[in-house]
Amino acid sequence: MRAAARRWDEETPELGLVLARTVTVLGSTGSIGVSTLDVIRHARAKYGADAFRIEALTANSNVDKLIEQAKAVRPKLAVINDESKYDALKAGLSGTGIETAAGRKAVIGAASRPSDVVMVAIMGAAALEPALAAVARDAIVALANKECIVAAGTVFHRALAASKAKIVPVDSEHNAVFQCLSAADPEEIAKVTLTASGGPFRTWSLDQMRAATPAQAVAHPNWSMGAKISVDSATMMNKGLELIEAHFLFAMPPAKLAAVIHPQSIVHALVTYQDGTTLAHLSSPDMRTPIVHALAWPRRISSPSKKLDLATAGTLSFAAPDFERFRCLKIALDCLDQGCMSPTILNAANEIAVDNFLKGGIGFLDIAAVVEATLANSSGANTEAESVAEVLETDARAREIARGICRRKA
Ligand code: NAD
Ligand code: MG
Repeated sequence: MRAAARRWDEETPELGLVLARTVTVLGSTGSIGVSTLDVIRHARAKYGADAFRIEALTANSNVDKLIEQAKAVRPKLAVINDESKYDALKAGLSGTGIETAAGRKAVIGAASRPSDVVMVAIMGAAALEPALAAVARDAIVALANKECIVAAGTVFHRALAASKAKIVPVDSEHNAVFQCLSAADPEEIAKVTLTASGGPFRTWSLDQMRAATPAQAVAHPNWSMGAKISVDSATMMNKGLELIEAHFLFAMPPAKLAAVIHPQSIVHALVTYQDGTTLAHLSSPDMRTPIVHALAWPRRISSPSKKLDLATAGTLSFAAPDFERFRCLKIALDCLDQGCMSPTILNAANEIAVDNFLKGGIGFLDIAAVVEATLANSSGANTEAESVAEVLETDARAREIARGICRRKA
């Protein structure tokens, strides 16, 4: 028989593990969202039906999948961002006792409702306000989304400092850094290195890349992910966004951040200390590992992901990135150095360019060109954001400029 629910971090020696956490999953129908529910199902099967009760699930427009998920995991609330799908959501969940809501405000509202952990798995800068709502109420924020930190680093930091929220990164490299950090003083850290698989075009020539199709770009060799981040991996903008993310998450100066190509995606990040020690984090490339770490933090629980077997993995290799073929990485590094709102513009332009590429509007190498031209034509790159509103304004303006550039290229 289970004892009354206790808080996760209470000592529970007689029970071993008590999972009495409530979780909200923002972006439950995406790649990270689906993996999160898989981890939760596994925990419930292993530790009891009460493990990880779900407060809310949210999705953008895939109402059928949201209904199916809600029926399976029984959240208190299901929210669809696309208001035209509200009637379908209401009808699909009638009689279940699950509350329903629609629209952007309702997505932010879902993050504001009481739950221990909020998984932020929405794609793009659209995650910014929901993530800040979770920060404002001192939640544990399992942060998969990187665009919100890139777009609003300083403002996000200020909100965090004013709250008791705890960010546990889910992006695999940042989750790895989080686990390898053991310095009492940040000065003890000499370098933080993120690994990059190199994506599907790691060995392609520029000419081959020029003709790359959306289907080829999303076919990642090691990870199965949403379309946008898959294209970001192919351009290596993903690593650029992640270096900016690391700068803000770990307060690391740009000079102490580096990326290294590691095609096997087994080592996820390395932290090198002043004394010459390097701590690395290794695991099979399966997002359920960082997801379960963030959901259970600071405890460690069973997960459905495959455990690493180095004898089977065989060789681990490393190489320096090629900035000429992966121009997006270079542009992002320049924005990391420039600071202010240049990362806001970089991210907004990239979201528009990737969307256009996926829809067949522009070519693969045009993504870097659109981002570069948007940065050159935007104001605000040298201004520090003072508020969320300022970030959102700069983001919206950059999107408009990027859309215009895409139209001219199409
Ligand atoms: P995805 O496209 O598969 O899913 C995105 C989710 O967000 C969906 O549930 C969608 O309904 C929702 N969504 C999209 N736009 C929205 C909006 N405007 N308002 C509300 N909800 C919206 O994406 P993904 O691959 O799961 O990635 C999600 C985030 O996690 C991204 O920021 C990505 O960079 C990051 N991430 C993903 C992976 C991965 O393996 N997939 C790894 C590391 C980091
Ligand atoms: Mg990553």
